[in-house]
Amino acid sequence: MNTPSARSIYVARSLPVAIDALNECGAAGAPFAGGTWIMRSPIRHEPHKPHYVAIGRIAELTAIRIDADVVEIGAAVTHAALAAALADLPEFNVLAMAAGRSANPAIRAMATVGGNLSTSGFAAADCVPALLCLEAEVEISSRGDQTRIGLERFLQIRPTLEPGRLLTRIILPRRGRKTAHARLPLRKSGDYPAAIVSLAVSFDAAARVQAARIAVGSVEPVARRWERLEAALVGRPLDPAQAAEAAVELANEFSGRDSVELPAWYRVSVLPSLVRRAAVAALDAKMES
Ligand SMILES: Cc1cc2nc3c(=O)[nH]c(=O)nc-3n(C[C@H](O)[C@H](O)[C@H](O)COP(=O)(O)OP(=O)(O)OC[C@H]3O[C@@H](n4cnc5c(N)ncnc54)[C@H](O)[C@@H]3O)c2cc1C
Repeated sequence: MNTPSARSIYVARSLPVAIDALNECGAAGAPFAGGTWIMRSPIRHEPHKPHYVAIGRIAELTAIRIDADVVEIGAAVTHAALAAALADLPEFNVLAMAAGRSANPAIRAMATVGGNLSTSGFAAADCVPALLCLEAEVEISSRGDQTRIGLERFLQIRPTLEPGRLLTRIILPRRGRKTAHARLPLRKSGDYPAAIVSLAVSFDAAARVQAARIAVGSVEPVARRWERLEAALVGRPLDPAQAAEAAVELANEFSGRDSVELPAWYRVSVLPSLVRRAAVAALDAKMES
């Protein structure tokens, strides 16, 4: 690739070419996926990078593979395509809801799941808590190397990801559980969520919760699991009212984030009702046969 000296967007047609181009640009370049976060850089008073490498035309990054024991999602799959592909897989309701209810239809047709996970400054990303519940691993590709790490680890190293490294795939184990995603938009549907609760539960033969994963988004700068609430749900039937009561008891572990739109305390205060909503939606979800 001949990197122009002025500003550029280079459309890569294959993964090796994209990685070469990103290496050539170094710190002056970055991947361009859906562009829905990058396009709003001026609003956030952030400078654009001089060079972008567009990854949306790379076939392997726009594919979704659904196997009996694993689902693999290319990083450049859009929110709309992801929601459509998972529509008939109840165990992935949490991710279909996250991808299918974020922003608005025009944005969902552009925004990618890889962009959602890679955007360090975006606390309200819907797919992050959903994928934390689903025990997601991510594949990071660089020149001559591909590494697979857990999503929680990726979120830790994300701010310091070196130029030339690309999130290429998301890998999800299939576990036959009930899942749901509850979000409270700031004012109306299409707004950023004030808070998000994603939930995934599996049951034993007596319909008691065997394992639970709950993740909270938008309340703190980075989404994270709510492990004490997970532990509180295990060993008993999933009761939305009881789950909400436990959430009231345990909500003080979140400090919340202040923003121009909302005070921190408000984001924390809505968590119990979102837990209840997520539990109701999960119980309503069909189990896969
Ligand atoms: C008004 C508005 C409201 C929105 N509301 C929501 C919402 O409520 N919930 C929600 O989840 N989303 C929402 N979005 C969409 C949100 O911007 C995207 O979900 C996501 O954060 C960015 O995805 P993108 O594909 O557009 O990434 P881009 O804008 O292309 O890139 C974002 C960042 O990630 C980097 N990047 C992108 N892909 C990769 C990759 N594969 N590997 C490494 N780095 C990469 C880029 O270099 C850049 O730094 C909204 C967007 C808008 C404009």
